[in-house]
Amino acid sequence: MKRETVFDLIGIGFGPSNLSLAVRLAEEAGTANLAHCFVERQAEFGWHRGMLLDDCRMQISFLKDLVTQRDPTSRFTFINYLFERGRLNEFVNLKNFYPTRVEFHDYLNWVADAFEECVHYSQTVTAIEPILEAGASGEIAALRVLSQDGEGREWQRVTRALSVGIGGAARVPEAFAALGPHNVIHSSGYLNSIERVVGKPDGGTKRVAVIGAGQSAVEVFSDLARRFTHVDASLVIRSGALKPADDTPFVNEIFSPAYTDVVYSQSEDARRALIERFRDTNYAVVDRPLIEQIYEMLYLQTVTDDARHRLLANTAIEGAVRTANGQIELTMHDRLTGHARAERFDALVLATGYRRDTHLALLEGLAPHLGDALATPSVGRDYRLATPAHFKPRIYLQGCCEDSHGLSDTLLSVLAMRSDEIVASLAQRAADRHAGGQPADTKKNGVSGGRVAFAL
Ligand SMILES: Cc1cc2nc3c(=O)[nH]c(=O)nc-3n(C[C@H](O)[C@H](O)[C@H](O)COP(=O)(O)OP(=O)(O)OC[C@H]3O[C@@H](n4cnc5c(N)ncnc54)[C@H](O)[C@@H]3O)c2cc1C
Repeated sequence: MKRETVFDLIGIGFGPSNLSLAVRLAEEAGTANLAHCFVERQAEFGWHRGMLLDDCRMQISFLKDLVTQRDPTSRFTFINYLFERGRLNEFVNLKNFYPTRVEFHDYLNWVADAFEECVHYSQTVTAIEPILEAGASGEIAALRVLSQDGEGREWQRVTRALSVGIGGAARVPEAFAALGPHNVIHSSGYLNSIERVVGKPDGGTKRVAVIGAGQSAVEVFSDLARRFTHVDASLVIRSGALKPADDTPFVNEIFSPAYTDVVYSQSEDARRALIERFRDTNYAVVDRPLIEQIYEMLYLQTVTDDARHRLLANTAIEGAVRTANGQIELTMHDRLTGHARAERFDALVLATGYRRDTHLALLEGLAPHLGDALATPSVGRDYRLATPAHFKPRIYLQGCCEDSHGLSDTLLSVLAMRSDEIVASLAQRAADRHAGGQPADTKKNGVSGGRVAFAL
């Protein structure tokens, strides 16, 4: 009988989180031989391609790339990418810590290319199943990862550890979900769909409403105004004004890797309060230069008396219905005056954010064996889901631990260190097995001297 390969680790999703993990595994002598692979639903590497607008910049320093905070001498630093691309000196001349997203995407792609062999692209992981230990112990020994490729073929792989790095899923408020997808797009798919949705200029003027007050909403609003001469765009926000993201230096310290310890060590209530206090670093806020650019654009419209684009502040959307001619009618409530009015639009762009709970559906098949672990997700400092003693496989969660690990969890800020912590945790387990339960000698932030062998 042919024996099934048992992986030491399978990563679900191959975005920056698991890409950083792939780099970490490859660069540590003790883990380079770990049997691992990644399963990614996209046909090739892509980082938020639907929002890869050519004039948008990173909201984080290039020094917070996939590796620099852990090991600035790695060959996978952004600086080495620039060097190998022959642009290092010119980049220095830009005097800017914030590259365009297009360039950062190219950097991530350059790193991903080096790991091509361990990624199965075009496969969506659909379920995880438990594998019981032979005999009657009732122990769960491993996990079966089920995926489906573009042709509908089913794949199965067995692993002793999982790293779930599937990012967020488009959040579509109920009022809009009922409209169906025709002419209603989420910002995550903006570039893939906007030309189809607004058509060509000879098709006449199109009225587009962008819903949301965060960075993506304003980037989309700016792009519509800049590139589509036949679009009249309205940015609809509940708040009274666009608010700037606080990226001042003292506040920015909450995105330092060390701050994860600060958040994690708090009680549940204190963590919630901390996250709430600093929400304006990341949610429903916009980079200051972009706010200024939008303000100037709207101001210049008053100079030329051509008010095509609008910012509708203090506006709550109370209803959305599709009309007989396929337009969308929004009932809007002015939160200052209390007045309600209806307006029709040819298309909506929902910049309404992302859900971070899709891992729960993916892990649902394990629920009967996990006790309360999924009902009240409890995650260790090492990002490992707390599982009962009889459940041996390890499940690491990336990007869905904001409640326990802080605001940096969904961002790029701590990737280099997080992957280090996850690998150290995996290595600890392997060492424990080797030493018959005795913890091995590990460094705080890594595996010591390549002595830990992986025999999971
Ligand atoms: C437009 C935009 C700009 C951003 N800019 C910044 C920024 O400047 N700085 C910053 O710190 N953060 C930024 N972010 C936050 C963002 O979350 C992180 O940059 C980063 O993408 C997180 O990486 P990730 O790997 O956890 O998730 P993702 O990048 O979302 O990657 C998840 C991957 O998993 C795959 N996947 C999902 N489900 C499955 C499945 N079932 N099976 C197989 N594969 C699956 C997806 O296809 C995807 O490739 C931005 C976010 C957006 C939307």
